[in-house]
Amino acid sequence: MSRSKLKTAAAPAYEIRRSPIHGTGVFAARDLRKGERIVEYRGELISKEESERRGLALMEKARRDGGASVYIFTLDDEWDLDGDQPDNDARLINHSCDPNCEAWNYDNRLFIEAARDIRKGEELGFNYGFSFDTWEDHPCRCGTAQCAGYIVAREEWPKLRRALAARERAAGKKAASRKIAGGRASGPSGGRSARGGSGSRS
Ligand SMILES: [Zn+2]
Repeated sequence: MSRSKLKTAAAPAYEIRRSPIHGTGVFAARDLRKGERIVEYRGELISKEESERRGLALMEKARRDGGASVYIFTLDDEWDLDGDQPDNDARLINHSCDPNCEAWNYDNRLFIEAARDIRKGEELGFNYGFSFDTWEDHPCRCGTAQCAGYIVAREEWPKLRRALAARERAAGKKAASRKIAGGRASGPSGGRSARGGSGSRS
C-alpha cells in the first residue's frame, strides 16, 4: 500500500472498528482535546412531515423483520436531519449514558465534538437524547456506571426512574416487552437531539 497519501493527510481523529457495546463503533485515533470537533454528522435535511413518514416506515419495518435503525436528528421546529447514508461515519457512534462526546447544531449542520479530553483508543459515544415516550424500545447496553438502562435524554431520566420503579412494583405481571432485536434504535418520535450551537437546543 502506498503511504504517500497518508503522509500528507492530517492525523485522523477517529477510526471505525467493532465495538464491545454494539456492532460497529467509532474510536479516538489519537488523543482529543475537550471541545475538539471530531466529525460532522452528515445527512439529508428533511421536513417534520417527511421525518414522521420515515419514522413510521421504520417502525413498520422493525415490526416485520425485527430490525431497524433510526438516524434521524431533531434540528429545530422545522427541520430534521436523516443521517442514514454511507458517507456519514458519525452514524456509527454508539449511544452512551456517560458520553465523552456531544452533538452540536450550528445552523442546521451537526458536529460531534469532544465533551471532555479523550484518550487514543477510547470508544466515542454521545447521548442520543431520545424522547421518554419511546423508552421501552431502546434498552441501553453502554455498560457505563451511569447507565440509566434505557436510551433516554438526560433531562428525562427522573421520569424514566419513576417509570422503572412503577414497573418494578408491577412485577409479577408480565411486563410488555417491546424490544426490537438487533435494532439499534427505532420509534416514530425517537429522533436524536443535539445541543444548539445557535441556542436551538431541542
Ligand atoms: Zn447506558
